[in-house]
Amino acid sequence: MENTQAVLIHPAVDGGIKRARPDFSGGTLTCKCTTNPVKVRVGAQTAHNHVCGCTKCWKPEGAIFSQVAVVSRDAIEVVENGDKLQIVNKDAPIQRYACTGCGVHMYGRIENKDHPFYGLDFVHTELSKEDGWAAPEFAAFVSSVIESGVAPSRMDGIRARLRELGLTPYDTLSPPLMDAIATHVAKREGKLPSAPAGKSPEPAPAQPKPAASSAPHRPAPSPQPAAEGGSVFSRLLNKLFGGRG
Ligand SMILES: [Zn+2]
Ligand SMILES: [Zn+2]
Repeated sequence: MENTQAVLIHPAVDGGIKRARPDFSGGTLTCKCTTNPVKVRVGAQTAHNHVCGCTKCWKPEGAIFSQVAVVSRDAIEVVENGDKLQIVNKDAPIQRYACTGCGVHMYGRIENKDHPFYGLDFVHTELSKEDGWAAPEFAAFVSSVIESGVAPSRMDGIRARLRELGLTPYDTLSPPLMDAIATHVAKREGKLPSAPAGKSPEPAPAQPKPAASSAPHRPAPSPQPAAEGGSVFSRLLNKLFGGRG
């Protein structure tokens, strides 16, 4: 049994996971600036909340994981000091709007309509004072914490602590999310029938070029991430999330 006592994951989960409130319908995210903070209203409960070990998500000081959830982009409204927001990397698949004052990421948005998660924005609900947000359900991109400098020897303890908290550790995303990505790709490639009858027809994605080409609708970033090797899925995740999540 690993000693998990000293393992800190993220302030929102280290003391135990807070439950969601069934009637919860959103709140306001506030950045860390002491004057003129950016405020973003999230007008709905979030989904797929999780802790994430990738190097791209914003993390609070000292935390080795971020906590991040998704919500429909329609639910996001910048209500105060939006002029302080700037996109961290305009070429990244997820455009993360960060406060230029304190560096906190207020929301991440996907503009590529072919992205499996198009329509969902990424938010850190710990930035809100309200209680009742969707609880974190799993841990994503766990091995990637090594890329931010965590000693590999600590990984057993970190994974044990995550399991103890009920946050099953995955080195990519959770199976339901990986399945959603694979389903999206299969439909795009014609391996599965697209839009089931009766569902509101999504705008048909423009036909991607043959399978070998990557990122059909974005200028290929250079160096081409696919050149890094690794599994088809790790290349895909690179493409979708801009490198290790
Ligand atoms: Zn700020
Ligand atoms: Zn992440």
